Amino acid sequence: METPLDRLRKALPPEAIDTSAEATFRASLDNLRLSRCPEAVISPADEDGVAAVLALANEYHLPLTTRGAGSATTGAATPAEGGWVIDLSAWKQLAVREETMSAFVQPGVTVKALDDAAAGTGLAYPPDPGSARHATLGGTIACNAGGLRGAKYGVTRDYVMGLEGFLPTGEFVRWGGNLRKFACGYNIRDLWIGSEGTLGIITGAILRLIPRPAARRTTLLAYKDEHAALAAAAAIRARRVIPSILEFLDRETVAATLRLWGRVAPEKLAAFPASWAQHVPALLLVETDGEPAQADAEMTAVLQAAGGHATHRHTAASDDEAETLWTVRRGCSQAMFELGDTKLNEDVVLPLDAQTHFFEAVDRLRHETGLPMPTFGHAADGNFHVHIMYDAGNPAHRDKARDGTRRLMEQVVALDGAISGEHGIGLAKSPFMQLQHGTAELSLMKRIKETFDPNNILNPGKLLEPFEIWNHPRTKVRLPWDH
Ligand SMILES: Cc1cc2nc3c(=O)[nH]c(=O)nc-3n(C[C@H](O)[C@H](O)[C@H](O)COP(=O)(O)OP(=O)(O)OC[C@H]3O[C@@H](n4cnc5c(N)ncnc54)[C@H](O)[C@@H]3O)c2cc1C
Repeated sequence: METPLDRLRKALPPEAIDTSAEATFRASLDNLRLSRCPEAVISPADEDGVAAVLALANEYHLPLTTRGAGSATTGAATPAEGGWVIDLSAWKQLAVREETMSAFVQPGVTVKALDDAAAGTGLAYPPDPGSARHATLGGTIACNAGGLRGAKYGVTRDYVMGLEGFLPTGEFVRWGGNLRKFACGYNIRDLWIGSEGTLGIITGAILRLIPRPAARRTTLLAYKDEHAALAAAAAIRARRVIPSILEFLDRETVAATLRLWGRVAPEKLAAFPASWAQHVPALLLVETDGEPAQADAEMTAVLQAAGGHATHRHTAASDDEAETLWTVRRGCSQAMFELGDTKLNEDVVLPLDAQTHFFEAVDRLRHETGLPMPTFGHAADGNFHVHIMYDAGNPAHRDKARDGTRRLMEQVVALDGAISGEHGIGLAKSPFMQLQHGTAELSLMKRIKETFDPNNILNPGKLLEPFEIWNHPRTKVRLPWDH
């Protein structure tokens, strides 16, 4: 009997279908490292190919997961129910349209490639996830990715003017266009953004670009503890300055980074005060931008507001020096593994006036569970990355991490925060959707999914269906962004 794969092979050229162990393993996981091998990885060359794949997936009710770079941290790109993966990372057409200050991109273009191309014409694409070199625009639109500059420049959603692609049922559709305004019926474009590949396959996007800031100023400020650092961040807000970056690192994060450097890169320690070895500080990394005079004036205001209680401050005199200051932030993700072999990266978001209460809650959890919870994040928009570190081979640790994660999410929701500010839900946060949303809200989301995707083929088992990551081992694998 002819299988769906046999029929697919008749519909697409052989090079578009890869069933090798290597390809299916690569497509089996994302940065959550929870692996489910698909039967085949399909790389269609054009829209007709995508339509052919969708037609078969619908006919056979086969799960189909769209993939960009696989850098999602939540399992969103894991083909949780097997089936086929449709990989659009090779779709890399990119055209910057200077006159309309916009760009047309195919979904496989990386965030950095777009920003680099925009820079050539004095423009910029501001959303800047830490994964910008790898993450694709298809993936970042599907996840509504944020980044360090969110408070001043917004997130991916703020730059998407038009989308085109396929409904799960196989029809080609366009939402919006190369237009600054669009008021024509239901806004499905925005429903697609952040829907994590469950409501459609994006094959093209028109993105808004902005004039590129001419200058950037960077300052590192150190404080005796988290309270002092967050009070300084509040003082900057009270001064009505919105820096392009206001990054917060708690003492546990800084200590882990110094420890990692001490072990593998002692030369990096030289750029920071030796006293930090005894008195590890909490840090703020601040960047202002704009015309040079504006960037300078805003940095002066930042220092007036926040510099008084700092135990150390250093404004970079050059781009190279700024880059040195940033090494502490760039190194900290990897440094977490000084504290445990497994990381749960929660990217919660809090109201700006709840940050201090939130850190008190994290502190309590840290003491009650006995687990490290190094935390850093974007103090200007309240989006914090709490890393619950544990040893996966130790059942007591695992239980504490599981319990700690739920209690963290309960605290966040109790403080009127949200369980994800930028990474999305995927598999990892699906058990907490019921904390975030009431029955009526979840029920409408389920009905939307059923309406778009009556055969439940597109990225099934995510978002709305609770998944217990604890019952599934993570795979040890080196991914392109690992240091
Ligand atoms: C080191 C590192 C740093 C990170 N920093 C940040 C950060 O600062 N901010 C942030 O928000 N995130 C960050 N992330 C998370 C991740 O990079 C983002 O979620 C990103 O949006 C994923 O893009 P991707 O191309 O890797 O998509 P994938 O991981 O391949 O897919 C993610 C989701 O998008 C769907 N999808 C992919 N392509 C399409 C398409 N063409 N059409 C429809 N659906 C599609 C997939 O089905 C999946 O549900 C980071 C990740 C890493 C590893």
